Amino acid sequence: MKPKIYITRKLPDIVVTRLTEVCEVNMWDKEEEPVPREILEKEIQDVDGLYCLLTESIDKPLLNLGTRLKVVSNMAVGYNNIDIAAATEKGILVTNTPGVLTETTADLTFALLMATARRLVEATDYLRAGDWKTWSPMQLTGQDIYGATLGIFGLGRIGEALAKRARGFDMKILYHNRSRKLEAEEQLDIQYADKERLLRESDFICVLMPFTHETKNYIGTAELSLMKQTAVLVNTARGGIVDEEALYHALKNREIWGAGIDVFEEEPVSTEHPLLSLPNVVALPHIGSASKNTRLKMSLLAAENLLQGLQGETPKNIVN
Ligand code: NAP
Repeated sequence: MKPKIYITRKLPDIVVTRLTEVCEVNMWDKEEEPVPREILEKEIQDVDGLYCLLTESIDKPLLNLGTRLKVVSNMAVGYNNIDIAAATEKGILVTNTPGVLTETTADLTFALLMATARRLVEATDYLRAGDWKTWSPMQLTGQDIYGATLGIFGLGRIGEALAKRARGFDMKILYHNRSRKLEAEEQLDIQYADKERLLRESDFICVLMPFTHETKNYIGTAELSLMKQTAVLVNTARGGIVDEEALYHALKNREIWGAGIDVFEEEPVSTEHPLLSLPNVVALPHIGSASKNTRLKMSLLAAENLLQGLQGETPKNIVN
C-alpha cells in the first residue's frame, strides 16, 4: 500500500508527479491561499507524511492529531513554524531545505542592503509621482556601500554567501555567532566581534540567524541605541528577531538611518503597520528565496526528504 501524504499548498506539477509515483497524494489546491486550520486538522489525521510551508503552524495540538504521522517536510530552511520538541517526542521526523536557497537569499539580502542604502524605492516613487523637477546636489542622497563596514549576525550558510558578495565591494566584515568560525575568518578575511562591537562599528547590519527562543527580540531598543546614526539594518532572517516597535521608534527618531525588511513578526504584514509609513524603510513580502530555479529546487528537495523518510531511508536534511 502506498503511504498517504497531505500537501498544504498547490505545488508545481513536476513535484506532485514525483510524489504521486510513491504516495497517495492529497493537496490543498490553491496557490495564493493557505489551507484553513480546520482542514489541516482533519487531513493530518489520515496521513503518514505532511508536506508543509512556513505559513502553517505545526504545533503540538496539530501533531497530536497525526496519529500515524511519520514525517513532516518543511519547504524552507527555517523551521520555527514547527514544534520540534513535540515532533521529536512523538517520533516524527522533521526535515527542511537548507543549501539550495543559500545563494538566492544572499543575493536578495545584498539587493535589499543596496536598495535601502541608495533609497531606490523612494527614488522611483519620487520619479513616478512627478516630483523630479531638476538635478540637485543633495537630492535623494544615500549611504556608500563600497568600503563600508558590514556586520553579520548569524554567519551560517547565507551569512557566508553574503560575506563573499560584500568582499567584492571591499567592505570590512564583522560577524557574530555563538561560536567562532575560524576557517571562514581566514578564507573570507572577516573578523569575529562581540555583539556590542558589531553594533557600534558597523555601517550595515544584516540579521541572518534562525528565530529561536534565544534570538527573539535579539535587536531591541538597547541594541539599536548602540548603532551608528547612519547605520542600515537589514533583516532577511525571520520576523521576531528584531523588535518591530523599537525599530519603528529608532527609524522615526532618526537614531538609525534606514532598514530593509523582508520578514515580519506577523505575515502577511498589515498595510497599516507603522514601519510601512516610514520613507526610510524598504519592505518586502518575504521573498528571500524567491527565484524560479530556487523555489523549484526547494520544492523538489522537500519532496525527496519526505519520500526518503516515508521509505525508511534517512532523509538528507533532518532537523530533529
Ligand atoms: P545556518 O547555516 O544554520 O546559519 C545560522 C547561523 O546563525 C549559524 O552560523 C549560527 O551559528 C548562528 N546563530 C544561531 N543562533 C544564534 C544565536 N543565538 N546567536 C548568534 N548566532 C546564532 O542557516 P542559514 O541557511 O544561513 O539560514 C539562516 C536563517 O535565514 C534561517 O534560519 C531562516 O530563518 C532565514 N532564511 C530566510 C529566508 C527568506 O526568505 N527571507 C530564506 C532563507 C533563510 P552558531 O550556532 O555558532 O551560533
